[in-house]
Amino acid sequence: MDDVALAWLSMLAGAAVGEPVTVKASARDDVLGLAGRDASGWAISLAPDLGGDDALEVLMHECAHIALGHIARDRESVPRPAVGSILERLTQAREAPLEDAAQAWAAARLSGLGDRVRWLTRALLDG
Ligand SMILES: [Zn+2]
Repeated sequence: MDDVALAWLSMLAGAAVGEPVTVKASARDDVLGLAGRDASGWAISLAPDLGGDDALEVLMHECAHIALGHIARDRESVPRPAVGSILERLTQAREAPLEDAAQAWAAARLSGLGDRVRWLTRALLDG
């Protein structure tokens, strides 16, 4: 995920949420995505090795948590854990209603993305 890819994903996230969002590559390898706040506003961290299609899916899921008000403006969100991890099982039980709502919001957003958006995202992120 280079600077151009992160700038593109930040633009997509900002358009989805309706407020500026900074997308960064995460240093954690047990989390696919994480939304929260930093000094400059909304921030989303993504696992750095996501391909284009996966990055869009995780990005819109994290945008959903921001847009739906799941994240207090003064604290970080619940991490989205890697599939199959212990953290995933713990998180699923506790956060199931919020996760379902986020998945529905993300699915609607993803289905509305145009072919050019998907093409450009793949071009920037797929090895
Ligand atoms: Zn989530």
